[in-house]
Amino acid sequence: MTAHSNIYPTKALQELDAAHHWHPFSDMKSLNAEGSRVITSADGVWLTDSNGNKILDGMAGLWCVQVGHGRSEITEAVTKQMNELAYYNTFFKTTHPPAIALSEKLAKLAPDHINTVFYCSSGSEANDTVFRMVRTYWDKMGKRDKKVIIGRWNGYHGSTLAGTSLGGMKAMHAQGDLPVSGVHHIDQPYWFGEGQDMSPENFGVHVARKLEEAIDQIGEDKVAAFIAEPIQGAGGVIIPPETYWPEVKRILEERDILFVSDEVICGFGRLGEWFGSSYYGVKPDLMPIAKGLTSGYLPMGGVLVSDRVVEGLMLAGDDFNHGYTYSGHPVCAAAALANLEIIERDGLVDRVKTDIGPYLKERWLKLGEHELVGEARMTGLVGALELVPDKKNPTKKFSDVGVPGTLCRDVSFEHGMVMRAVRDSMIISPPLVLSHEEADHLVATAEKTLNDTYRILKRDGWMG
Ligand SMILES: *Cc1c(COP(=O)(O)O)cnc(C)c1O
Repeated sequence: MTAHSNIYPTKALQELDAAHHWHPFSDMKSLNAEGSRVITSADGVWLTDSNGNKILDGMAGLWCVQVGHGRSEITEAVTKQMNELAYYNTFFKTTHPPAIALSEKLAKLAPDHINTVFYCSSGSEANDTVFRMVRTYWDKMGKRDKKVIIGRWNGYHGSTLAGTSLGGMKAMHAQGDLPVSGVHHIDQPYWFGEGQDMSPENFGVHVARKLEEAIDQIGEDKVAAFIAEPIQGAGGVIIPPETYWPEVKRILEERDILFVSDEVICGFGRLGEWFGSSYYGVKPDLMPIAKGLTSGYLPMGGVLVSDRVVEGLMLAGDDFNHGYTYSGHPVCAAAALANLEIIERDGLVDRVKTDIGPYLKERWLKLGEHELVGEARMTGLVGALELVPDKKNPTKKFSDVGVPGTLCRDVSFEHGMVMRAVRDSMIISPPLVLSHEEADHLVATAEKTLNDTYRILKRDGWMG
């Protein structure tokens, strides 16, 4: 690397960052020693770092930049709104045009039985809202014992108290003495990791029935809701067997509990439908949303609330004592509106379903033939590669889980592409605007990355 291509003083920035900046989900001691990668600009699906390297953003930021980076339509909408009304709240009998317009838009996009949105600034806050909303709903319905919320092990619903509690990440529960009381976790539909002694079809039904067993064991009169991501994202792009959601649907139809579909990743086109629950044909009572709502241009989240729950909450004619200073923030709402307009105008949802989704999937699944890969999977534009030490023995895991995945992630970065590692799975979730050419480049880079990672792992005695 020649000195003049170093357009930012990378080392000085890294030192300052290490001195004062605590990063999310990081081992700060080793990160500070190593130094963070500094991202300085982005356009389309490409990031540029402080050394001038171009990096393909295989994760759409953090599962959120649906429309790609650098869309001036959003910047212009935000500037205009900032000049007109940069902030006002939506408490105390007030509202404003951006919140009104966005609510109408979301009600149109949502399934017919959902016509109302409650706003916040993140997916975590959306799930804190869900937590209080479902318990309050049952209180108002006179069913005060219905308090337990069922989530899933390895589910992810954010990092706040309710988000962490509803999620099933044990490493998160261990910090802060969580979950809070009244949350029950059941098994996840992770066939490759936990179900290979059955066919995927049988495992899907088997693990769906864990929900039925939990409801019956706790008592239907004590269960408030079941929360799940249509496809688990942060847990490692866990795509359930095809039998899973139909069986969950049957169970939900037979029991009187609320269903919360966490759409923070699966919403806004990621699976080739507007919402992941529509992709799987399940009917949610509540849908937490964030990420793709604004493509990450500004922070915004919300909960889409069904007519049934809205009516229940309004029954007593009193306040729902919940809200945020930035609920419905006008500038964030303007960003969301501009983002949704691009998604609609460019037909991005349909593009995932009929064009780039199938195109990338066909090529991505071929990576499953690689010696290092036990399974390749993809739905819409989310995919994973399960790295394994012994392809002939696919239930066998690496001796030190997570080390090969992290190595592979670093190699991918060196080759100019962001893939995320979850345990020893490599994850992608690219922007929905990814071109065919960029998809080819993504797959070729992934293959090169697998080859190099395999060589290192073999040399160091990890394989077999
Ligand atoms: C990211 C995520 C969240 C949390 O959203 P934040 O904006 O990070 O608080 C919640 N649920 C799911 C499914 C997510 O992927």
